[in-house]
Amino acid sequence: MSEFNSQSIISDDSWRQRDLAVVWHPCTQMSEHPDLLPLVPIRSGHGAYLEDFEGRSYLDAVSSWWVNLFGHANPVIAAAVASQASSLAHVILAGFTHAPAVELAESLLRIAPRENGREPLAKVFYADNGSAAIEVALKMAFHYFVNTGDSARTKFLSLHNGYHGETLGALAVGDVPLYRKVYAPLLMEPNFVRSPDAFGMDPEEAASLALADLRAVLERDGASVCALILEPLVQCAGGMRIHSPSYLRGARELCDEFGVFLIADEIAVGFGRTGTMFACEQAGVQPDFLCLSKGLTGGTMPLAAVLTSDRVYDAFLDRSRERAFLHSHSYTGNPLACAAALASLSLFESEDVLARNVERAAWMAEEAAVLASHPNVCDVRQTGMIVAFELSPDGTCSSSFADATSVGRHAYKRAMELGVVLRPLGNVLYWMPPYVMNRDDVRMLGEVTRAAIDFAMSMEEA
Ligand SMILES: *Cc1c(COP(=O)(O)O)cnc(C)c1O
Repeated sequence: MSEFNSQSIISDDSWRQRDLAVVWHPCTQMSEHPDLLPLVPIRSGHGAYLEDFEGRSYLDAVSSWWVNLFGHANPVIAAAVASQASSLAHVILAGFTHAPAVELAESLLRIAPRENGREPLAKVFYADNGSAAIEVALKMAFHYFVNTGDSARTKFLSLHNGYHGETLGALAVGDVPLYRKVYAPLLMEPNFVRSPDAFGMDPEEAASLALADLRAVLERDGASVCALILEPLVQCAGGMRIHSPSYLRGARELCDEFGVFLIADEIAVGFGRTGTMFACEQAGVQPDFLCLSKGLTGGTMPLAAVLTSDRVYDAFLDRSRERAFLHSHSYTGNPLACAAALASLSLFESEDVLARNVERAAWMAEEAAVLASHPNVCDVRQTGMIVAFELSPDGTCSSSFADATSVGRHAYKRAMELGVVLRPLGNVLYWMPPYVMNRDDVRMLGEVTRAAIDFAMSMEEA
């Protein structure tokens, strides 16, 4: 441990106390603060690092919940937002439009996944967070069939271990018990199909078993299904589980065969996380609905977009308001957020980000390979800029911890003391960093991850 400057993050700071008196935090058992779980007031962020009020810095290895792409306080994005704020911060998007909404829609459609012979994605519907984008896609898919005289299609298929957000509709198609279970009585009936998750399996075999299951469900029930929703290539909240692109190709074909829409939830995996701009590209697949958020604004402003085709759009056109898609959010297409997204997209081009990420992903692979031999790491997996480590008591993935949450929490705490934000998913530690790390940052990430695992294991034994 001597090579690190261990920093104590439990100090009685006034922001922490004022916060705990009034703020209810997301995805947190508040009773764990501050003793079991540190609560860290952050003053600023620069590049891949966050800085607290005592001047300690933390490498943001989770991109502040998978949103940040180009570092904190990125000057290009900040300038675009500031400039937009001085001319138009917001305007109602019903009956009005503005340049950033139009330009962003044009840009997104230009880079959207495209499949030979399939009508391209041609329209963009805005929302302001990922879960809202999922609601939009689900409602649009259902409403399309109502408008085209097929109102028997009322079901959605989704994958086991998938995650699509926390609002009731998005939660209903998700399958992470921790988030879903207590609300189950409130949710639409789930229709889960087998996940192509390749954990502990040959990826192609996992894909073909999942496709066989999907086919069986569609053969039985296809006429009542409006869409299949999935996270292409990586089921992120479900523990960074990875699958083969061949599943996506097969699922696309089955959706076509049974007249069912394919909704690609690229909220987490979009914008270069898997190596390509969008994960669907790796399978040569174009979805009927593409849901985007998180990285859309480079991690600066809340914004989401759902891309779909003219075929879908046209089915909502006529003189009746009932046929129209009346869904709305007050901040739909917010100009500041659209300006941030345009600036973020410009950085992909001006800095040749996808090409340079090949090297960053290789650095991550090098450090991950060192950790693969750790006696408590039973699986290391990577897709592009996402790397995950499965921890286990004896190094085999068939054994499990009595309390995986506590193992993760100890690793988290130790990593924070050593200056890295590693927010585990149960017993899975992962790296999903901003695209601005240098070689030394990645080296530190590897070393701190090892120290965090060692500490968590020593607490298990204690
Ligand atoms: C985060 C996430 C969502 C939900 O987005 P929010 O902005 O948190 O509502 C949906 N789908 C996936 C795959 C996600 O990772």
